[in-house]
Formats: sequence, C-alpha cells, structure tokens
Amino acid sequence: MSDRIPVKNVSGVEVHQPNSANKKRHPSRSRIYVRAVKGPLETFRRFFGLFFLALFAVLPFIQYNGRQAILLDITEQRFSFFALTLWPQDLTLFAYIFIISAFALFFVTTFAGRVWCGFMCPQTTWVYIFTWFEEKIEGSRNKRMKLDERPMDVDKFWRKTLKQFSWWTVSILTAILFVGYFTPVRPLFMDFFTFQTGFWATFSILFFAVCTWGNAGYMREIMCTHICPYARFQSAMFDQDTITVAYDARRGEARGPRPRKIPHEELAEKGLGDCIDCNLCVQVCPTGIDIRNGLQYECINCGACVDACNGVMEKMNYPKGLIRFASEDSLAGGTTKVFRPKLIGYFAVLVIMIAVFAANLLYRVPLEVDIIRDRNSLYRETNQGLIENVYTLKILNKSQQPRTYQISVEGLPSYELIGNKAVQVDGGEVATLPISVATDAYNLEDAVTEIRFNVSTITSQGEEIQVTEPSKFLYR
Ligand code: SF4
Ligand code: SF4
Repeated sequence: MSDRIPVKNVSGVEVHQPNSANKKRHPSRSRIYVRAVKGPLETFRRFFGLFFLALFAVLPFIQYNGRQAILLDITEQRFSFFALTLWPQDLTLFAYIFIISAFALFFVTTFAGRVWCGFMCPQTTWVYIFTWFEEKIEGSRNKRMKLDERPMDVDKFWRKTLKQFSWWTVSILTAILFVGYFTPVRPLFMDFFTFQTGFWATFSILFFAVCTWGNAGYMREIMCTHICPYARFQSAMFDQDTITVAYDARRGEARGPRPRKIPHEELAEKGLGDCIDCNLCVQVCPTGIDIRNGLQYECINCGACVDACNGVMEKMNYPKGLIRFASEDSLAGGTTKVFRPKLIGYFAVLVIMIAVFAANLLYRVPLEVDIIRDRNSLYRETNQGLIENVYTLKILNKSQQPRTYQISVEGLPSYELIGNKAVQVDGGEVATLPISVATDAYNLEDAVTEIRFNVSTITSQGEEIQVTEPSKFLYR
C-alpha cells in the first residue's frame, strides 16, 4: 500500500495570495485581518499557550542551591539544569536531546499533523499575544480594516501609538527573559532598566526585541508559510491516516447561502450541502487560507476554523464537525489506522533514543581529566638518581559540589609522585595541577612505558568516582 496522498485537481481554488490586482513579479502581500473566534479549541489553545508562556517567564527566576537553576552560560561553556551541569564535553547528550526532539516531532506530525505549530510553537503564542493587544486597542476585524483604510487622525494616531507601545513592551520583556537564559536574569533586569548592561547584553536584548516585534507584529503567517522549514518537509511525514484539520466536502458541498428555516433533513432534496458559504472559516484563519480547498501546507492545524464552523453549524441547527480533525481515510468513509508501520517506527526510535539518553545521563561520570606531558624535556634525573617525567593534570569537577580528588599512577612497579597527591576542586571548576612521576631506572624495560593516571574521589553518599587516563613515561 502506498503512503502517498493522492494528488487531486481542485477547481476554483482561491488560496490566500498576494494582491491579485497587483501584477508585479513579487507583489506585496495582502494583509490578513484575523477575526477573533470563540470555542473549546481556542480556549484550550489559549490556556496551553499561556501555560508555556508562564513557564518561559518563570523558569529563569528559579534558584537552585543559591544559583540560577537554568543557565546556559556560553562564555563559561557551562549549561546548568538544576542539579545537572553539562559541558561541551557532554556534546553527545546534546546530540541525543536534538535527536529525541526531532523524532518526537516526526511522531506527533505523522499522528496529528502540525499540532506543534498550532498549539505550542512560540511564533503562534506570540502572534496570539500581539493580536490580542491589537484587538483590544483597535477593535474587531472590521474596525481594524476600516481604521487602516482611513487617513491619519487623532483617534487613529493614539490607537496606533498605544498598540506599538504594547508590542514593544512585550518584545523587550520577551528579549530580556530570553537573554536571561544565557546570563543571570535578575541583575540583567535591573541593569537593563538602569542603562548599565554591557554592549553584548544590550545588543542581544535589542536584537531579540526587534525580531519578536517584527515576527509577531508583521511577519506573522509569513514565518509559518515561507520561512519555517518545518512547513516544507512536514508533507513527507503525512499519510492518509494523519489526523489534520479537514473540511468534509462530501457533507459540505454543494455550498451556498440558504434561509435558516430549511431543516437539515431537507437540504439534500434542494441540492445543498451543509456549508452555508459564510466565509467565517477563512476570516478566522491566521494563515489566511480556505480549508475547503483541501489540505494545504500553510495550515498550522490550529483548529480556529473548526471552532468557527461549529459555531455556524450550531446556529443553523446542523450537526457539528463539518470542519474537524480527521484523516483522509476517515473523510473518505474508512477508518483511521492508528497502528501503522511508519508511526510504530518513529515511536520505537523515540523510545530507544530516550532510553539511550537516560542511560547516558545515569552513568555519566561527573569528572573529566586531561593529561598533558611536559614537551620541554622528555625526562630528567633527580638528585636521588630517579628518572622523572613531568605532566600537567587538568581536573574538571562536573558536579556542583566541591570535591577532593586523589591522584595515583598505574603501570610502574614503584614510583614517587612529586607534587600534590590530592587536590580540592570547586563544583563546576577546573584545577590545573603540575605533577611529576619519578621511578628507578630498573623499573623501566623500554624507552616508552605505558602508564595510567587514576583520579578518584568518594562522594558524600559514599559513591566512588574514578577516571583513568592513559599517558606515557619516557626514558632514553
Ligand atoms: S465556516 Fe463552515 S459553513 Fe461557513 S464557509 Fe466555512 S465551512 Fe462553510
Ligand atoms: S485552515 Fe484552520 S486549522 Fe488551518 S491554519 Fe487556518 S484556521 Fe488554523
């Protein structure tokens, strides 16, 4: 069985297009005035978005052991997540996180289309916040259209100014919070509003503020339809059982206006479907498409048209669900197959990757040791006639607690360590320790002897942490 969605020729398609009266090669797009909609999906989307917005705003302020719990410190190359601190050496863990995110997205998209875009994507959430301000200040869709058409006057001026003020306030707060994930957020807030932030912090905040303002205020659906790569490759994951927002053409056609008093049972006799052609589903669509034209890559699965159409169906006394979350198969009268090879495959890889990630995290040794041999001299003889090699140990304590590390050497029958045999390293710090190993020449059979440095510690819970690093002992 082919997983491809059959290509259909849809006549009379009116996809949202740049102003068709303008025949320039790259004409400017016509602005979308989104109509507000009410319904269970919209309410769910609003609370879901607000929940993640609250999480985004609160997380950087949470303290753990007297420091910012989540801090991605790029200058120090230290990434803290509560009790866990990751370093560039933990690159594989970051790679697992990206792979898990990718497969989670593949799985969700194959199962339920672009629900990530419609319900969780920051772009959608911020556009929602911006349009909320727009609606409160400039009024409903029709009022906004009229306001934009008329020349500047006092009323228009104060509304536009207030809207810009609210947009910029949200943008700057967003940018400070975002930068606050990379640099301590509490002083950042104080410093920014007292003009004391350094150049890079100020530049980053202004840059992200401009991006937020531009994306959520003006770019809006262009981000979802032309810039975001996800919109382009999602179709590779769709199949006939993917649940997306869809118009039931078998039930809706032939569309057209009709008096409200015609009972639903008599529509077929009059050659009418359930769609009254009110255009509400198009007016509430944030990407400006007409879902009645079939599955389109611009659709972000937000469900606004579902709520709008259900409201119309309710008023007309027709059954709800003319536009609904449904698969191609179920729309064609079949049943949606949940357990299918592609979905099971994505799920299996996801579970395996999560297990591998968890195992890596669980067995991760919070200690990193680097051994650097002294390159200036191969070896030297001590006053006692011993052969001495000099090394520099770099000990990185990847935990968040100070620890004392013991140093020992394997591979020589007897030896003497000249320098500290134990070193205390603060949590998240690197200690650089010059150390010499000296041994009797009788212990050395070859010019090069393979040795191993052991660096170990006992945690407060009694657990032993040990790292063994190979090196060479040179003679002759
Ligand atoms: S909202 Fe429903 S009834 Fe109105 S045009 Fe859209 S599909 Fe037809
Ligand atoms: S067609 Fe419906 S689900 Fe798709 S983006 Fe528009 S309103 Fe949202």
